[in-house]
Amino acid sequence: MTNQITVLSDDAVDPASRSAAHQPALTGCPWHDVNEMLQAAGLRPTRQRMALGWLLFGKGARHLTAEMLYEEATLAKVPVSLATVYNTLNQLTDAGLLRQVSVDGTKTYFDTNVTAHHHFYLENNHELVDIPDPHLVLSKMPEVPEGYEIARVDMVVRLRKKR
Ligand SMILES: [Zn+2]
Repeated sequence: MTNQITVLSDDAVDPASRSAAHQPALTGCPWHDVNEMLQAAGLRPTRQRMALGWLLFGKGARHLTAEMLYEEATLAKVPVSLATVYNTLNQLTDAGLLRQVSVDGTKTYFDTNVTAHHHFYLENNHELVDIPDPHLVLSKMPEVPEGYEIARVDMVVRLRKKR
C-alpha cells in the first residue's frame, strides 16, 4: 500500500517537537514507561497525566471514551475532572500516543494502538474491537479532490447481534 508512510505520519505533532523528542526506553514497568512516553512526546509528566497514562497504557491495547476513563479514574481515586480527562486525551492524541476513532457523532474512542488498523463496533454493547486483519483495504479508493491526499482510511464495521 503506497499510503503506508502517510498513515503513520499524519498525527498533529509539529516537526520541531518531534525531532526534539527522544526514543522512550521502555522497561515493561507501567509507571516508568508512562513517564518515558510522556517525556518522549514532549509532555511534562504531571501527576494527573501519569495517573491517567497508567490507567490507559498499563493494561495492553484498549479503546476508551473520555467518560470510560473518567469512571476508571474515579474508581481508582485519581482526583481528576472530566474536563481534564478530555484535555489529557486530546494532548496524548496530538502527541501521537493515542488514536481517535469516531463511531457516532457523539462517541469518540481513544485507541492505545496507534498503528494502522480497522475496527468492529459492537452496537449492542457499544464496544470497539480491533479487526485482526491489518491488510484489509477498500477494493476501490475514491477520487481525491485536487490538492489533497488520503491521510488514512478508518474503517468501522458495525456489528449487531442476530435476532
Ligand atoms: Zn483499535
